[in-house]
Amino acid sequence: MKPQNVLILGAGGVAHVTAHKCAQYNDILGDICIASRTQAKCDKIIASIHRQGHLKEPTRQLTSRQIDATDTEAVVRLIEDTNSGIVLNLAQPFVNMMVLEACLQTGAAYLDTAVHEEDDLICEDPPWYANHEWKRAERCQERGVTAILGAGFDPGVVNAYCALAAKHHFDRIETIDILDVNAGNHGMYFATNFDPEINFREFTIVWSWINREWVCSPVHDEKWVFDFPEVGPQPVHLTGHDEIHSLARFMDVDTIRFWMGFSDHYIKVFNVLNNVGMLSEKPVRTAEGLEVVPLKVLKAVLPDPMSLAPHYKGKTCIGCLVKGEQDGESKELFIYNISDHAACYREVGSQAISYTAGVPPAAAAVLMAQEIWLPNTMVNVEQLDPDPFLDLLEEMGLPTLIEDRTPSLYAN
Ligand code: NDP
Repeated sequence: MKPQNVLILGAGGVAHVTAHKCAQYNDILGDICIASRTQAKCDKIIASIHRQGHLKEPTRQLTSRQIDATDTEAVVRLIEDTNSGIVLNLAQPFVNMMVLEACLQTGAAYLDTAVHEEDDLICEDPPWYANHEWKRAERCQERGVTAILGAGFDPGVVNAYCALAAKHHFDRIETIDILDVNAGNHGMYFATNFDPEINFREFTIVWSWINREWVCSPVHDEKWVFDFPEVGPQPVHLTGHDEIHSLARFMDVDTIRFWMGFSDHYIKVFNVLNNVGMLSEKPVRTAEGLEVVPLKVLKAVLPDPMSLAPHYKGKTCIGCLVKGEQDGESKELFIYNISDHAACYREVGSQAISYTAGVPPAAAAVLMAQEIWLPNTMVNVEQLDPDPFLDLLEEMGLPTLIEDRTPSLYAN
């Protein structure tokens, strides 16, 4: 039976965009319920959807609920109450295993956008998915439950770019460099573009897949100035990231690395915060006897990523530089997307980071509802056919562009 009715868990920047996009396709998706720790945030998203006139089929329900997603039984009850066939987990990645368990118990299809995190573990040993999600793959297979892991932009769309490269453009791939730059300006002294807690936890150690082996290096150790289309030369730093942990297993590629763009100012502030201990996930006790986690305090004082949207200018460029061979010839392609902060704000009231991460879960949900992406087991995005996904993303506002960077093209 086609899965229908969508439950969106979380009401942050990413969920805001996903909810807008799901509303625009609710003739296919059915009823939509947005549920989060703070119900008022869900209601704000619903008001924004109505304000923008994005609810395509007005006879379908758009509702909100309060939920603690760490409570599997409560999630099971919510899935049953809302008769949801698709669960889009866009809350913090600490809840992945609890929500996946609820889907296994109810048979609802599951999707997330980040690898599972444990409070007290940071940058887990590779392949990270094997420590949590992949342990449930057999149960998904036995019960015929679809679970699509890491279906945001990176991870997510970039995994589909890798699959696209292997399917249509290369016989053999040697290296994939995933490059993510935000060349925009939010006008604040310092802010992160998505959940600061998750964002900073990424920058602890770096795992890369080099010559078919896992290699560990210190954070921000290697810098490269890459000449991006449209946004020009930008400094990027070697960073650990979720998608390498699945791409290394499912793609036949020698080397896979992830590079994230950081300005010198960002690195300077980051180093100060890190050196004084404000990025620590370990609790400390104040002189007054109050136990606090420095990273959670930092999150509380930094700007909410959603609040950056109205004044954000400039563009993001995220893509995969793929090097390999086709028909015996060397080849180099950059497969990428460009998104404009101000255009995203005009369309859904969000900045481009939330937009690029929030549109793909909605596209994947539509493909699940249409049974085009319904593997009835657990998969990472690169295991699925990239064509229908990238076609739908184009229609939904995230076009795929391809630039041929084969060095021989530039000889003479
Ligand atoms: P936010 O911090 O803005 O939002 C997270 C939301 O989840 C909040 O509404 C929060 O509720 C809710 N939440 C957290 N814990 C629970 C819980 N136990 N029960 C119910 N709700 C909960 O994060 P973002 O929107 O920026 O990011 C969402 C997800 O997307 C994260 O997993 C992030 O890692 C991922 N991401 C993926 C990207 C990709 O390209 N793949 C890019 C960017 C983000 P409340 O506000 O009430 O506390």
